[in-house]
Amino acid sequence: NKFEKYNLDKSLTKALLLMDYIEPTEVQAQSIPVIKDHKDLLIKSETGSGKTAAFAIPIIDEVMWEENAPQVLVLTPTRELAQQVSEEMFNIGRFKRMKVVSVFGKSPIKSQIKDLKQKTHIVVGTPGRIFDHIKRGTLDLSKIKYLVLDEADEMLNMGFVDQIEEILSKIPKGFIMTLLSATLPDDLSKICNRYMNSPVIVEI
Ligand code: AMP
Repeated sequence: NKFEKYNLDKSLTKALLLMDYIEPTEVQAQSIPVIKDHKDLLIKSETGSGKTAAFAIPIIDEVMWEENAPQVLVLTPTRELAQQVSEEMFNIGRFKRMKVVSVFGKSPIKSQIKDLKQKTHIVVGTPGRIFDHIKRGTLDLSKIKYLVLDEADEMLNMGFVDQIEEILSKIPKGFIMTLLSATLPDDLSKICNRYMNSPVIVEI
């Protein structure tokens, strides 16, 4: 198994084996060492490249099981992508017993609040609903170490820029950011410049 060279936790190599991920894709080969090195990362690549596991594998490897508050926040433009990403993160983290909670609009907030009250490692959701939970005080951002903006250009197209900025401003400084986007419009470059520390760029 070619993932072994990254010195991942055994629980992860076991999960990847079960998923039939034998060899890293190009975007994974370039991204995993960067995140393992705690560097900010900008991934310009299309769906189908294995971009989800490119950030999910190294981030889950770094998450501490013992911590009760969420350590990873992933923002996605749509509910479908949030579900896809949380499923992939659940699969990769299953033997590490990662608790993944996904939150999005048009879905009962009460059960999301109940989920978020329990020990949670990873939260995946759309900006509107994430922001809603922050305002209600039902999402603890104090331990977030990894922030991922998936399909960031799509989120901006959908008018989420103010909510993203609000969310970013409420996460304690020092987090590591991964931004995935097919294009890099001006307002996205602005976010990169403000919140990322000389990011490594991976373009596939
Ligand atoms: P994504 O670009 O993240 O949407 O992934 C595209 C598809 O590739 C998904 O169905 C993944 O399950 C699959 N995939 C991702 N990484 C690998 C890998 N290393 N080996 C085999 N399949 C993979």
